[in-house]
Amino acid sequence: MADHESAWEPLGAQVASVAEVVGRREPCVLRQRAAHWPAVAQWTWERLGALAPDLPVRLVQGNRELGATVFQPSTLGAYLQSLQGPATAGEAPLYLKEFNLLGAFPTLRADVRPQELFPPGALHDAQTWIGPAEARTGLHHDYLDNLAVQLVGRKRFYLLRPGAVERLGAVAAKHDHWAALASLNADAVVDRGVVAGDAWVVDLEPGDVLYVPARWWHEVVNHTPSVLLTGFFGTRTTVYAQWAWRQAVQGAHLAGLWRRGHCTCHPARV
Ligand SMILES: [Zn+2]
Repeated sequence: MADHESAWEPLGAQVASVAEVVGRREPCVLRQRAAHWPAVAQWTWERLGALAPDLPVRLVQGNRELGATVFQPSTLGAYLQSLQGPATAGEAPLYLKEFNLLGAFPTLRADVRPQELFPPGALHDAQTWIGPAEARTGLHHDYLDNLAVQLVGRKRFYLLRPGAVERLGAVAAKHDHWAALASLNADAVVDRGVVAGDAWVVDLEPGDVLYVPARWWHEVVNHTPSVLLTGFFGTRTTVYAQWAWRQAVQGAHLAGLWRRGHCTCHPARV
């Protein structure tokens, strides 16, 4: 593990504006840029769990990007209750991913300030990633820029420059609606050699904002139970073009024409 860690350089923090950071197209952490958002102070597991305890949710078990795709049904209340207890040793963490918390509970929109972050005229979405310590999203890249806001708990991002996975022939065949997946984990990629400036690591605290440019590979693991708000964004032209392309790919997948049975959206056959 020591070898892995030495290859990962700590990502620097910036005091620049979001527009400057996005203009450079390099990952960057904006420390405490969202620390004043009410969500950071006010979102507790009790409060979120009380919103709709019986709401059905679909949990992802383990690392579906690298391993098998396995889902488990639960309810929002039972799941958030489970995050308050001790971790269950030896069991793959259950993860509530890409959850439209603000869509499900519009009153929570008063607790966030996305308009402070995104460039004028940008289109953006808002999804939450809610999970226990050790919950992990395997190495992948997205097709749009992302401003990720840590709201509750602590989380680590490993970031690899575009090309680092492609050079190893490690882009996975597994299909994902919105991302490209790697067939190696992030440590395995750096073990095969990366140059300075290609591999970054950053730990996010509540209130921190991380800019992840489109096509930068990243693997993400929770240090503690955590809520992350992601905002994928771009110009209207970029967002519509990417959306149309990914919808077409997903349409082919759903029709059984593309990567049927080998994806993050349908359970693996066991
Ligand atoms: Zn699928």
